[in-house]
Amino acid sequence: MISREDVLAWIRKYVSAIAEHKDLLTQLDSDIGDGDHGSNMDRGFQVVQTKLQEVADKDIGAIFKTVGMTLVSTVGGASGPLYGTLFLQMGSAAKGKLELSLEDWIAALQAGVDGVIMRGKASPGDKTMLDTLLPALQALKDAAAKGAGTGQALLDSAAAAEQGMLATIPLVARKGRASYLGERSAGHQDPGATSSRMFIQTAADTWAR
Ligand code: ADP
Ligand code: MG
Repeated sequence: MISREDVLAWIRKYVSAIAEHKDLLTQLDSDIGDGDHGSNMDRGFQVVQTKLQEVADKDIGAIFKTVGMTLVSTVGGASGPLYGTLFLQMGSAAKGKLELSLEDWIAALQAGVDGVIMRGKASPGDKTMLDTLLPALQALKDAAAKGAGTGQALLDSAAAAEQGMLATIPLVARKGRASYLGERSAGHQDPGATSSRMFIQTAADTWAR
């Protein structure tokens, strides 16, 4: 079981990872976008960090909702509404829960990813954050179907997220600013796929023990 304290620890770890890799995210976005992904994400998640204290005694759904609302209101660009939606929908799915089973985490991530698709209208292979999140979600489902434990499922999802991130390199972007470059967007790793890999990786790092 993933406890509320585990969830808080994960979000804090993700905040740290974003801060630590802010320059990388900005560099990747300079290559195929406008060079603001690192600063966009870091600005939002620094505010998230301060808000966590106020909701640390609430249920996991409420914690995710607070993260989502904070991102929507503080992060500009495409990533604010998209990551905001991801957390808001995860919050709806985890409403009232004080701990998450593997099935609960799969349901929450599924709801979040569905929200990102509804909002951004991207498909697999469009060179976006979904190219990390969808394989990670699928790996969780496959592991659960095989009867794997939560720890193994999380490790599988992190491996799939990394592969999905790397697989964005040769892709031509069909959504967001990078799509303005057309064929010239190929040969670069997608910044949003990279920040989403950190999202999945830090969950595995925190919860798979
Ligand atoms: P902006 O593109 O507005 O400057 P960011 O640089 O913060 O916003 O985020 C760019 C990332 O957002 C991209 O690398 C991509 O992964 C993601 N993205 C952009 N548009 C979409 C979309 N329609 N659906 C899903 N993800 C998207
Ligand atoms: Mg940008």
